[in-house]
Amino acid sequence: MRHYICTGGCGGEASTPGVCQTEECHKEGEILTPCDCEDGSHANAKEEPEDTE
Ligand SMILES: [Zn+2]
Ligand SMILES: [Zn+2]
Repeated sequence: MRHYICTGGCGGEASTPGVCQTEECHKEGEILTPCDCEDGSHANAKEEPEDTE
């Protein structure tokens, strides 16, 4: 079942699309990554490529 996870290190997870709301998180305010794994490993999360500096 589809869920949404934060890849910023806070371990946030939601069943609906949204943004991370963890203040100390790297990705606070950023859109959660869709994932459809069934075992909780989040191996199917598709992280959008980002520009690296
Ligand atoms: Zn987060
Ligand atoms: Zn997952």
